[in-house]
Amino acid sequence: MIIQLQQGIPAELLEAILQEVNGIGFKANEVKTQEAHYIVGIGKKDFDIRTLGQLPGVADIHRVSDEYKLISRKWRVNPTLIDLGDGVVIGEGNFSIMAGPCSIESERQIELVVEHLKANNVKIMRGGVFKPRSSPYAFRGMGLEGLRMFHELCSQNGIKIITEVMQVSQIEDMVDFVDVFQVGARNSQNFNLLDALGEAQKPVLLKRGISGTIEELLQAAEYIFSNGNEKIMLCERGIRSYENSYRNVLDLNAVPVLKAKTHLPVIVDPSHGIGLRDHVEPMSLAAVMAGADGVIYETHQKPEEAFSDGQQTVNFQESERLIKRMRQAYELRESF
Ligand code: PEP
Ligand code: MN
Repeated sequence: MIIQLQQGIPAELLEAILQEVNGIGFKANEVKTQEAHYIVGIGKKDFDIRTLGQLPGVADIHRVSDEYKLISRKWRVNPTLIDLGDGVVIGEGNFSIMAGPCSIESERQIELVVEHLKANNVKIMRGGVFKPRSSPYAFRGMGLEGLRMFHELCSQNGIKIITEVMQVSQIEDMVDFVDVFQVGARNSQNFNLLDALGEAQKPVLLKRGISGTIEELLQAAEYIFSNGNEKIMLCERGIRSYENSYRNVLDLNAVPVLKAKTHLPVIVDPSHGIGLRDHVEPMSLAAVMAGADGVIYETHQKPEEAFSDGQQTVNFQESERLIKRMRQAYELRESF
């Protein structure tokens, strides 16, 4: 069950509600986010919801049978909107495009991507400065120095930044320079990182694990929310299977299923999803039609020279066409 408390509830009223929840045999978890104050009651006992609902200090109460609670659509029917400022809002009713290189490589590269995004009215740039790489000898990112440069060039041009955070100790150094923290597939169940991002005051894009189930993704998001951060979006980026004709299997089933289960925005990453540059466009368009709230993909001025993931990275010409077609597809979807 979830109880939303009235804002600024006095300590005695809170104590009385906690006692009542414990008294009916539920474990009461207090959750305070940027937006509101809740008690998440975990238990299975049958009880009359009105006994709690009428207590002073209770603003709203619901039973939620899902394992995840606060991110469930059963609790919150209205979609979560994430406002990055300057009119950039992610979530139902908007279609968000996030594009940029796999890795931030140089000042010149950032300038070229920013120019490309501005020319196409794309407001969010992706790019990793801390890169999880399968080989320890591969390029592992420009680190904080790269992030500062990335931030400076983007903020001068009104572009928001999404970039991956790999460990708890990086959050503090990064927080002032990012608009959205990305949690990569390999860290999808790094619960310490999720806890810490719950305390961070910046939105989080949480990727599905390499072999992660939908339930695991949702539970991972609940970690962030229950630690205080409601600004979460989920990202389908492909899951591993026996198939080796492409990098991953982009699971577009996940889009309508996640949209039904949670109020959080759902974003699709076709670049990592299929891993083949020539097929990023059809999978992006399919993602739009499946109901995604946005797409995040890799683009680079010269994909063949990219420091990482060049094989799945589209050039600016392809990117421009992709942006136009995704917008057309979104308009068509909204007209249904
Ligand atoms: C990335 O976005 O470049 C990345 C490493 O993604 P993922 O965690 O989905 O592999
Ligand atoms: Mn990549």
